[in-house]
Order: sequence, then C-alpha cells, then structure tokens
Amino acid sequence: HDTVLTVEDLRTYFHTDDVIIKAADGVSFDVPRGRTTCVVGESGCGKSITARSIAGLVQPPGRIEGGHVWFAPEPGRDPVDLAAMDPTGPQIRKIRGGDIGFVFQEPGASLSPMYTIGAQLARAIRLHQPISKAEAKVQAIEHLARVGIPSPHTRFDAYPFQLSGGMNQRAMIAIALANDPALLIADEPTTALDVTTQARILDLLASLQAETGMSMLFITHDLGVVAEIADDVAVMYLGTVAERGTVTDIFDRPQHPYTQALLESIPAIGDQPADRHTRLPAISGIVPQPSNRPSGCPFHTRCQFAMPGLCDVTAPRPLTLETGQLVRCHLRDPDIDDLPPQVVQDE
Ligand code: SF4
Ligand code: MG
Repeated sequence: HDTVLTVEDLRTYFHTDDVIIKAADGVSFDVPRGRTTCVVGESGCGKSITARSIAGLVQPPGRIEGGHVWFAPEPGRDPVDLAAMDPTGPQIRKIRGGDIGFVFQEPGASLSPMYTIGAQLARAIRLHQPISKAEAKVQAIEHLARVGIPSPHTRFDAYPFQLSGGMNQRAMIAIALANDPALLIADEPTTALDVTTQARILDLLASLQAETGMSMLFITHDLGVVAEIADDVAVMYLGTVAERGTVTDIFDRPQHPYTQALLESIPAIGDQPADRHTRLPAISGIVPQPSNRPSGCPFHTRCQFAMPGLCDVTAPRPLTLETGQLVRCHLRDPDIDDLPPQVVQDE
C-alpha cells in the first residue's frame, strides 16, 4: 500500500561518558497515506525520541546510528531517507515546517512568549513561501480561523500568555499546518490539556485530516486517545516495537503480553472513581532504565508469561501473524510454541 512514511530499523543512541542509551533500537513501522498511526507506550519507551529522530530533532549526545526513515510526500515519487540527512542541514530544515509539521506537548516548545501568535504564524509561512508580509498576514488569519480560533483578526495580535492552553495548542497546530504538510507529527499534543479541551483538539485534528488528506503520526501514552484517533498502532517498549497492527487488531486481538497488560490497565467505562483507586495496576514493576535494558526480551522482567531460560536469554524475532499484525514474543512463535524452553536454548 501507499505509505507516506516508512521507518525501518531505526536506531537512535545517546552516548554518555559511561553508557550508551539505546533510546530507539531497531524501530520499524509505517504511516499509510492519509491515515493516522499512533505510537503508544509508557514514558521512557522511546516514542518521543522516535518522533524527533524522524524530524531531525535529536540533539547531541543523541544521534541516529542506523536504519532508514523513508518519506514520500507525494504518491508515486521516490521516497527520500530522512535518517541519512544532516540533522542541522538545509535539506531537513526545508522539510520540517514544510512537508512535515510538528506539534509538541508543550506550546512553549514551539511558541515563543516574545512574539504574537500572528507574527509567529506569518513567519512560519514566509520561511517556506516567497510572499509579502501582508499576504502572509491574510493567510495567517485564515489559518487561525481554520483551527477554530474565534475572532482571528483580533487573536492575530495576541501573545501566547493571553490565550488558554487549548487556544495555544490550536495556534501551534496552525503553525504546523501552515505550509500544508503531507505528514503531521504530534507528540502528546493533548496531554497537558483538560479532558474536554483534549477531545476538542482530537476532533479538530480529525476534521483537518479529512479536509486536507494529510497523514498523521501521533505519539501518546493514552490508549483512550489511540482508540479515538488511530487507524494503525505501534506499541513500543524500551526502544523496540513490541506489537503493531490496525487499531481493531490491537484492541480486539492483542497478541503481545505487554499490549494485553496495557489494555487491562485502562479503567473500564462505568467504573466508579473509587474502584479506579483500589484497582491494582495491571502491569507490575516499573519500566527498567533504557541504559540498563534487560537481556533477551526487554519485557521479561515484568511479563507474567516469561519463560526462564528463554525469554531472559533470547530476544524474540519479529513475527507477522495471519491477521497482518506484527509481534515480538516467543509465545507467538510457531517454531518454539510446543517445545520446552530449555530444548530451544540448547539447539
Ligand atoms: Fe513475555 Fe517472553 Fe513474550 Fe517477552 S517473549 S513478552 S517475556 S512471553
Ligand atoms: Mg515523551
């Protein structure tokens, strides 16, 4: 099928004095054109670094060590490899803010407190289009209206501190979409917002997608958001993709013990708030530090199905199931399913 983005074995490592942190260690997934792929996982699993790697936003001491990020803004054109570009070079800077828009969790990450949102939006437009200031202002006001900012003529002259969190997030979306990107990357764009505002922003993104046909890569820790917005899902754990599939696969037929545990940790609709507090967390233990990743299957220290002698020794290979889902777990490997772990290990 036609994909706008294909991430292939992406490796992004951070080199410190004594350790190498493998924040993304062989990450693969794709974003079909015009659709939304969610990357989901707990904090520290490498999902933000994956998003930043794609857009050339990894800061030293981090760097992309290997893999490919194939990006095809238009169908039928040969893709370019974003991972092979100099992250500080002109090529990726032209793409970022142009064919790729980026929305962060904190508006402060891309909105300056020093300038009006109108000035910042007009500047983003003029960085990528050879038009006059007056023309950019006209466009900017249209963009503010399009993201649902009321009285856009007046709000053009507002500073970020004069707007609510939700309005700032809309302004940031307007900047990200100013040059009609083929791909919008959104890293936890609604996490800092209250539930009502969050729902409105998700609705806005969905309607902008329907209007423009843009593809979205959406990073979140929240499975409720995934259910709301995803077509396809990649579940990350400690720098690797544990499982990926369509949103229906992931919610109805999860195959990886980590995905299953994540789903069990969502409070059921109708649960009383008191139940939510008394409920035991479904995933025991904490995420190990990425600098100290367990051997074998990275999830084995928390997995209730871990098979000693196998899961702590051998990393599971990626398996494509009949449903098209991809999963990394020995339990799903037909070659070793019926064999005692020790026998496999001795082979
Ligand atoms: Fe659990 Fe083993 Fe599967 Fe990893 S490979 S998820 S430890 S059963
Ligand atoms: Mg993050």
